[in-house]
Amino acid sequence: MNMRSSDRATSDNQMSSLCSWKFKRIKENATDSDSDSANDNKEEVRKLPRSHKFHFNCVDQWLHIISCCPLCKQDLLRR
Ligand SMILES: [Zn+2]
Repeated sequence: MNMRSSDRATSDNQMSSLCSWKFKRIKENATDSDSDSANDNKEEVRKLPRSHKFHFNCVDQWLHIISCCPLCKQDLLRR
């Protein structure tokens, strides 16, 4: 079991300990009739240390490769 490439990857445990949530993108001209399509505008984001936020899908791909913040390179394993 010598998987060097996974040494720096984020484990599922660590991944789930990072906070994430969905938020609704607010439309400027939102009306009640827009509520159906509003569901499509929900974005899932993940917050990393230092309040850096990324799209859930984007950052998860990154974190599976290396566990650091894409923006400031802070290591998520060792703080
Ligand atoms: Zn960062």
